[in-house]
Amino acid sequence: MLTGAGMSVESGLPTFRGANAFEPPREGSGRPLRFEELASPQGFARDPALVWSWYNARIAAYAGARPNAGHEALAQMEALYEHFLLATQNVDSLHRRAGSRNVVELHGDLREARCSKCGHRTVIAQNGLPVEEIEHRCGGRMRPNVVWFGEMLPAQAWERAQAAAASADVVLVVGTSAQVYPAASLVTLSGRAYVIEINPDESAVAGAVDAALRESAAHALPRIVRSLAVGRPNARIRWH
Ligand code: NAD
Repeated sequence: MLTGAGMSVESGLPTFRGANAFEPPREGSGRPLRFEELASPQGFARDPALVWSWYNARIAAYAGARPNAGHEALAQMEALYEHFLLATQNVDSLHRRAGSRNVVELHGDLREARCSKCGHRTVIAQNGLPVEEIEHRCGGRMRPNVVWFGEMLPAQAWERAQAAAASADVVLVVGTSAQVYPAASLVTLSGRAYVIEINPDESAVAGAVDAALRESAAHALPRIVRSLAVGRPNARIRWH
């Protein structure tokens, strides 16, 4: 299972690409910035206050969002299978808040900040990190504890996701444009699996999947989980 920003659109959260994307962030002069320019070590070094003000707005939006029927369906699906892993590119923690436990957050969790020098970690308040707290007492700077463009994924998370993809029978690819690497390569690593894409639009890996449901996550996933549960009457699924 690989999920991306489209998974949370029906929770009211914008994506980076596609029809429901964020307004591009702007620098002081008003020039629109590409996400890669801001969400990167170079962007942070250039203007940490700008980076934090953009993240603080996202942190507040994520804190106010609730898991949707798609997140809940995936939490129920996990209870049906002994071997189940949900690898997500999302940083909004909505999978965990919906009850998913076997989750690998490939790009981190935006509820935390960490010091770029000493590694000290702290939970961020729901309205974000105040500008005066950016400088850490060790002399480093607090940054969002997420993976930025150009950075490596957390090694353990990436190894778990790769191993699951390589041994999977079925892989669902939900709500991702599949343009961000290495996460998108999980689709091709799952060589022997039957791959199903759930996305109203074609992603970059649409040509490599076995089946595609051109629907939203919150529509398609509850239906899939209901069908799976019917085939497994003893499954520990919670019905609404
Ligand atoms: P993306 O923004 O590149 O692509 C979003 C995809 O979702 C598009 O293909 C779009 O067609 C699809 N989509 C839109 N509405 C949908 C719906 N209702 N149901 C299913 N699919 C829908 O997102 P990405 O591929 O995850 O990669 C971008 C990066 O953006 C990731 O690194 C991620 O960390 C970050 N991001 C995360 C969040 C979040 O945590 N909620 C939000 C924005 C961006």
